[in-house]
Amino acid sequence: MQLTVLGCSGSFAGPGAPASGYLVEAEGYRLVMDLGNGTLSVLSALLDPFAIDALLLSHLHPDHCADFTSLIVHRRFHPEPPFDPRRHKLDVYAPAEAPSRLAAAHAPCAKELAETDLGDVFAFHSLAAQTLHLGPFEVTVFPVLHVCQAFGFRIRHGDTVLAYTGDTAMTPALEELAADADALLCEASWTHGPDRPPALHLSGREAGELAARAGAKRLLLTHIPPWTDPGAVIAEAKESYGARPTVVSSGSRYAI
Ligand SMILES: [Zn+2]
Ligand SMILES: [Zn+2]
Repeated sequence: MQLTVLGCSGSFAGPGAPASGYLVEAEGYRLVMDLGNGTLSVLSALLDPFAIDALLLSHLHPDHCADFTSLIVHRRFHPEPPFDPRRHKLDVYAPAEAPSRLAAAHAPCAKELAETDLGDVFAFHSLAAQTLHLGPFEVTVFPVLHVCQAFGFRIRHGDTVLAYTGDTAMTPALEELAADADALLCEASWTHGPDRPPALHLSGREAGELAARAGAKRLLLTHIPPWTDPGAVIAEAKESYGARPTVVSSGSRYAI
């Protein structure tokens, strides 16, 4: 499978760096994971957004879903869509609150909100601990540990596995999520300092420890905020992983 990083700036978009979003492709099927601020611009430069086959939202923090509001406009009001989007709705797998929260973000006044049912062009599916079959992918969904309901994804295509943590602090579910993965796309939002808030994010050291324990063959670090020194995060992760990790960047492509 092919992984394209649409954006990976942690918690908010940085200078020329969109927030979180990823395109995963195999056998012509196009799966998008997260659609943070700035990612629709990068995606649109690669393909027509109508060509997305399914969308997974790990959680509803804006740095993972803000550009969904733009996708609403694109899908609902495009003057020349390649098909009728009201007949061929986009499947969106997201936390249960997604339809109401995303509609409210799109329609800021009561009148417009009353007229807005995102069900006209989207088919929402509430995420839980489950296995999804999306085109050629088997996607195992893991609840993870974050300040809100959040999920990580283990994506299998044939014998190949890509594991994505989403936003999470260390939690036992991550071991199963990442076990023997060909690539672990792992958030690392800060260094392992003593003043880290609890139950929110992973440090570089924790990302490396997770990859080592799980036997991940490759560690791709993501979600480093603009105010964090990536070199310090890499150094921590390298020491605990035992090999040099890769810090992903917007526009990068990886064969998994
Ligand atoms: Zn985030
Ligand atoms: Zn978050």
